[in-house]
Amino acid sequence: MKFCSLAALVGLLALSTTSSACLLPEERENDGHIRAIRGRQSRNNGTPIGTGDRFNRGTVAPRGLGSQGSSTSFSTILNVNEIASGLKGLASTYGIETFTTPYKTYQGASIQGAIVGGSGGRCKDAYRVFLNGNIHARERGSADNVLFFISDLLYANKTNAGLTYGSKTYTAGQVKTALSAGIVFIPLSNPDGVAYDQSSNSCWRKNRNPASGTGSASGIDLNRNFDFLWDFTKKFASSVRSSVASTNPSSETYHGTSAFSEPETRGIKWVLDTYTKVRWFVDLHSYAGDVLYSWGSDENQSKYPSMNFRNSSFDSVRGILSDTPGTRGGYGEYIPAEELTTQTTAASRMVSGLTGGGGSQYTAIQSSDLYPTSGASDDWAYSRHFADPSLNLVHSYTIEFGFGNNAASCPFYPTVAQYNANMRSVGAGFMELLLAAVELGLGDKTTC
Ligand SMILES: [Zn+2]
Repeated sequence: MKFCSLAALVGLLALSTTSSACLLPEERENDGHIRAIRGRQSRNNGTPIGTGDRFNRGTVAPRGLGSQGSSTSFSTILNVNEIASGLKGLASTYGIETFTTPYKTYQGASIQGAIVGGSGGRCKDAYRVFLNGNIHARERGSADNVLFFISDLLYANKTNAGLTYGSKTYTAGQVKTALSAGIVFIPLSNPDGVAYDQSSNSCWRKNRNPASGTGSASGIDLNRNFDFLWDFTKKFASSVRSSVASTNPSSETYHGTSAFSEPETRGIKWVLDTYTKVRWFVDLHSYAGDVLYSWGSDENQSKYPSMNFRNSSFDSVRGILSDTPGTRGGYGEYIPAEELTTQTTAASRMVSGLTGGGGSQYTAIQSSDLYPTSGASDDWAYSRHFADPSLNLVHSYTIEFGFGNNAASCPFYPTVAQYNANMRSVGAGFMELLLAAVELGLGDKTTC
């Protein structure tokens, strides 16, 4: 991932920068010239970053768009301080439990999250859905979408009201059903990167760890740092490696010095190791207007169980999409048929929410559809139960919200209209995920 939409392919073929997922076309190569995208001429940075603290040091709870009228609109993006203050505001207003992951970032920041719903209380087994925001710094609105969505759920639950996102309407009963899934969330999983991007308007994607002694902060692409086929130089066919990830610290897809070398990715692992019954995971990115489901390493196949990411005899052909699995060494990543059905069913539900919420058509596609990747969060989360059968199956997704702002200095910076539409899209997409998760299954019955 995450450059996977048909629109992105068209954009690439046209040598255009008009459309992409997390990577712009000119950023796909890892030979070091990717910095060329910096210095776009536009001074338009899209929706301004908020100044001050609208949640007044955690004494005011955020409230999202879904619990307010359709004419309500937000005019600024949450700054890093406000994201923390807003989380504190939810805790002080609704009594939810917050947590701090055990690993501080390179610049000393903490990564914070919270748990809501479920059967309540401290029983960790009650939380079955994990929502993660802003692992890529420049994808503005990601943290906002997570925080405001949870705020909507809590407000609606407390007031016994429903929620409305665009053409999607949910009853008070559906709000309570959604919350019953039990949610773990981290609005801002890359605080250093977002702080830098917000202060510099530099279209910054990675974290701020100056790994490999390059002197200046070159950063690691956190979404290539997870322990799934991380060592792509050994695990993928040589012909596809340049798009899978990069060993070049100046590349936008630099994968770090080892799997989980970064405190941010270790924090996400900590969540799944702590809330061990999580069954559903969404990593929230922009932009492409799609919902991506595993696998991202190669095309899915359900016929050959031994043809999988753990089998090193396929290392030389993994990632080649034009082959036919099972014939002449052709490889496809194994996914049990029933798990694929569940994955795609929930993906379709999210697409219906995202589309109805914001008014633009989203699409569900397999992550590898455009090109294979290694070390991505969603594949890692889904792979855990194959690598270690004692771990829980986690249905895992990447949502790429929005459609980009080509008038801005960085296309990941939305206009005010896009920022608000994206928030309504994601709100409805998350609602559909939670309702689908309850219907399709949350795993074993909690004993809390
Ligand atoms: Zn991204």
